[in-house]
Amino acid sequence: MILLVHLLFGAAVGSAVNNIPLAIILAFLSHYFLDLFPHIEYGIENIEKKQWHKILPDVLKIFLDFCLGILLIWIFSDPSTCSGWGIIYICAFMAILPDGFTVLNHLVPNKILEIHNKIHHQIIHFLKGKKISKFWRIVNQVIVVAISIIILRI
Ligand SMILES: [Zn+2]
Repeated sequence: MILLVHLLFGAAVGSAVNNIPLAIILAFLSHYFLDLFPHIEYGIENIEKKQWHKILPDVLKIFLDFCLGILLIWIFSDPSTCSGWGIIYICAFMAILPDGFTVLNHLVPNKILEIHNKIHHQIIHFLKGKKISKFWRIVNQVIVVAISIIILRI
C-alpha cells in the first residue's frame, strides 16, 4: 500500500496500544498485514531501474505521499488520549520501515535486504498479479484510512 495508508494505520496502532514496545512491534508488523490485501501503488520505475538522472518525479511522489500522511496524522490524532505525540509518530515511522528497506535495497543492495525484498514483494504481495479491479485495490486503501482515522479520533 502507499505510504500514507501505512503511516496512518501505524499511527492508529500507536494511539490504540498502550504498551509502547508492543505498539512499536505491532506498527512494524502492520505493514506486512496491510500489504496482504489487494492494493495499487504508484510506480517508482526510475528508482527501480537506477535511472538516477530521472528519479526526481519518483522522489517527489514519495515525498508528497509521506507529507500528506504526516499531515493527516497531525490533523486527526489527539495526543491526550494515548501515550502522546511521540509514540504516534514513532509507530507511523515503524509502519513504513519495510518500504524503507526496499528503497535501501535499490541504493545499497545486499543479501539481507534482498531476502527481505523477496518476502515483502513476492510472498506478502501474492495478490499483486491477480485479476482484481483497480476499484477494489483503491477502495481497500480508503477503508484502511477511514478505520485509522476513527481509531485516532477515539
Ligand atoms: Zn510494502
